[in-house]
Amino acid sequence: MVPTCSFVYASGKTCGRIPRRGESLCPDHRRLAAGSSQEAFEEEMNREVHRLAVLPLDEVLLDAEENLGIVQMWLEKKAPPRLHARFIKATIAIVTALDCVIDQRQILAQLLPGVPPDRLEALIRLLWRGLPQGPSAAPPAAAREA
Ligand SMILES: [Zn+2]
Repeated sequence: MVPTCSFVYASGKTCGRIPRRGESLCPDHRRLAAGSSQEAFEEEMNREVHRLAVLPLDEVLLDAEENLGIVQMWLEKKAPPRLHARFIKATIAIVTALDCVIDQRQILAQLLPGVPPDRLEALIRLLWRGLPQGPSAAPPAAAREA
C-alpha cells in the first residue's frame, strides 16, 4: 500500500496526496507545518522578550546562564573548537556580569549605611533599568513624549 499525506482538513477528510519517500506529509502540507512551527517559535521568543523585560537584571542573567548551560553539552560534542571557545567566552561574560550584579546590593549597603532596604532596592533597579520601580511602573511612551 502506498502511504498518503496524513494532513487532516477541517472537514475531517485527509489530504491523500503522495508524500516523498519516508515522509508523512505531502510537500504542500510539509511547508504549511514548517511555517506554523516558525510562527510558534517567533511567538515564544516574543513572549520571552516581554517576560525578561520585567525581571530584575540578576534574574535575567541567571536565566541566560541556565540557557547557556543547557546548550553547552550539545556544543561540546558538535561545535568546532573555535566556536566552542566563543561560546565559553560568552558564558564567562554572563557569569562575570552576574557576579557584579549580585555584589551591587552589598556594595551599595556599605556605601549608603542607614538607607532603608526598599530605597536601596529602588536605587538598584534604577541602576539596572533606568527606572526606580522597574519597567512596569514606567509611563507609556506616548505620555513620556508629551
Ligand atoms: Zn497533503
